Amino acid sequence: MEDNFKFQGRRKLLALELKKKGIVNKKIIKSIESIPRHLFIDPGLSEQAYIDKALPIESNQTISQPYTVAFQTQLLNPKSGEKILEIGTGSGYQTSILCFLKTDVYTIERNHNLFRSTSKLFNKLNINPVRFKYGDGHKGLIDNSPFDGIIITAGSPIVPKDLLKQLKIGGRMVIPIGKKIHIMTKITRISINDFKRETFGNFKFVPMLKKKD
Ligand code: SAH
Repeated sequence: MEDNFKFQGRRKLLALELKKKGIVNKKIIKSIESIPRHLFIDPGLSEQAYIDKALPIESNQTISQPYTVAFQTQLLNPKSGEKILEIGTGSGYQTSILCFLKTDVYTIERNHNLFRSTSKLFNKLNINPVRFKYGDGHKGLIDNSPFDGIIITAGSPIVPKDLLKQLKIGGRMVIPIGKKIHIMTKITRISINDFKRETFGNFKFVPMLKKKD
């Protein structure tokens, strides 16, 4: 499947829709306009790629709703050259947005099927995270820490302690917290021991699970 004018037109409309819903960051809007989301999903679903909703991907997982991806990215507010850790690579769509924003992306996926297929897709589309690791994201990436930003794209009942430790002072974490319903939360590291927490409404994610499979 290639890109074409029809998909490009639909992306423009999707970007406009997200603007209306409150995505004000111009670079993020540009990334939505530019990245061919239909290439991150099953070709059988490509007609639905630019509707603002989550869609199923391999292994019972989902590609997040475009609004959610844009909203989380806007909260994270990544600057060019910053080091960002993503937990839950999934389809790789969020990763490619972070790459589009010229950040240095480190990303972790716990499901091996997804890890394999998304690795291939990154090669094919020439998307280049600094590191793509197969593993459980709860532990983060101590060797590559600290990070300017950490974005968690699965819902977690708790804030993983190891991840908090891997934030720079001034660094931000965006994490949907909860069991069934997830409260979008931004945690900013103010000092070694102090963290500021802000919440941004309810969302629904697939769960952040322990261990690999
Ligand atoms: N960012 C993705 C969203 C995928 S859904 C996208 O744009 O498509 C969440 C992903 O988190 C799933 O692929 C799931 O397998 C993964 N995941 C769940 N628990 C995890 C964990 N502990 N560590 C790493 N990845 C995890």
